[in-house]
This record gives sequence, structure tokens and C-alpha cells, in this order.
Amino acid sequence: MAFRDAEFFRRWLTAAAGSFDAEADRLTELDSAIGDADHGSNMRRGMLAVAAALEKEPPGTPGAVLLLSGRTLVSTVGGASGPLYGTLLRRAGKALGDAERVDDAAVAEALTAGVDAVSQLAGAVAGDKTMLDALRPAVEALPDYAAAREAAARGAEATVALRARKGRASYLGERSVGHMDPGAASSTLLFHALARAAAD
Ligand code: ADP
Ligand code: MG
Ligand code: MG
Repeated sequence: MAFRDAEFFRRWLTAAAGSFDAEADRLTELDSAIGDADHGSNMRRGMLAVAAALEKEPPGTPGAVLLLSGRTLVSTVGGASGPLYGTLLRRAGKALGDAERVDDAAVAEALTAGVDAVSQLAGAVAGDKTMLDALRPAVEALPDYAAAREAAARGAEATVALRARKGRASYLGERSVGHMDPGAASSTLLFHALARAAAD
């Protein structure tokens, strides 16, 4: 099993920022169907701020990379997704403590703790048509990063058929059916970038 250092987590989140930048219009389009058309711009702003913060003062441990990234998301993203993704990264960072290198089992455990915290904060579980429909199966597939990416993508695809029970889309009731949840789509980008970082 591989060991992951701060550089691995920086590469992950910097690559993710590039994906959010490139896919912002698509995410906003998804959010215009069942939300308020800002998910792409919210996440682009937040993730570009994360990449900038990680470049300016690169933290020395995996935990510190995740804590700084989570803090940055919370302070730069106004929408619901900021506190939710911020909680995911901060809780995972806390779980990794101040170790300089962590193995993949520890990464899986930390990200699972992060998703548990998101679920608790959101009051949502997989099946509610939110980011948790991608996040939950993804962390369950870890430490196989490629499987986690596939699970996230399948989970996001499955939100199309669901009726939203949480978040803005839930106001639409039955009319939320037939559209992919924007947060589930963005969670897929996060796990895609993680799988790429792990394959390098
Ligand atoms: P906002 O809805 O405040 O405009 P965003 O558009 O940035 O925020 O993010 C919307 C996404 O956040 C949704 O697609 C969903 O995945 C996620 N989300 C919103 N509210 C919740 C919630 N209560 N539980 C889980 N996820 C949520
Ligand atoms: Mg929105
Ligand atoms: Mg909004």
C-alpha cells in the first residue's frame, strides 16, 4: 500500500481546482435546472482559492493541506456547497492529524469520517439526491481510487431518477426528477482528480 504525503494532497486538490474551473459552466447549467444556477461559479471561486492558498504557503502535512483547503472553501463559497465540502475536507484533515505521511487505509478512513460529518451537517443520506449520492459510494469503494471514481460517477448518474429531499432542489418536489444533482456531479470531479493523483 502506498504512502501519501502533503504533496499528494496538494496535487489532488490543485488538479480538482482545474476540473472545477473547466466544468463550471456545466455545473451551473445543472444547478439552473433544479437550483439557483450558481453551483459552478461557487465551486470555481472556492477551488481556485484553494489552489492559490496551497501554492502560496504549501502546508507540510496531509492533515494541514486538508484543513487549509476546507477552511478556504468555507470562507469563499457562499452557497450550501461551501460549508458541506469545507466540512468534508476539514474533518478528513483532523482525522489525519499531524502525520507527515499516511497510508491509503488512513486516507479512506479520513475521507469516510469527512463524509459522515457532511451527512450529519446536511441531515442527508444517499438517496436524497444530493452530493452524498456520489460521496457515500465513493468512500465505500476506497482505498481503491479507480473504483471510488467509478462509484461516484454511477452515484451521480443515479440522481437523475431521484426526487430531491434536501437542499434547494427539494422545493421542486416531483419536478426535480429527470435532472442530475449538481453537487453529485461536482463530487465526481473531486474523486476523478483523486484517482488521477493516485495514478501518477
Ligand atoms: P446553493 O444550493 O446554496 O445555491 P450550491 O448551488 O453551491 O449551493 O450547491 C448545491 C448542491 O449542494 C446541491 O446540488 C447538493 O448536492 C448540495 N446540497 C445542498 N443542500 C444540501 C443538503 N441539505 N444536504 C446535502 N447536500 C446538499
Ligand atoms: Mg445553487
Ligand atoms: Mg446559491
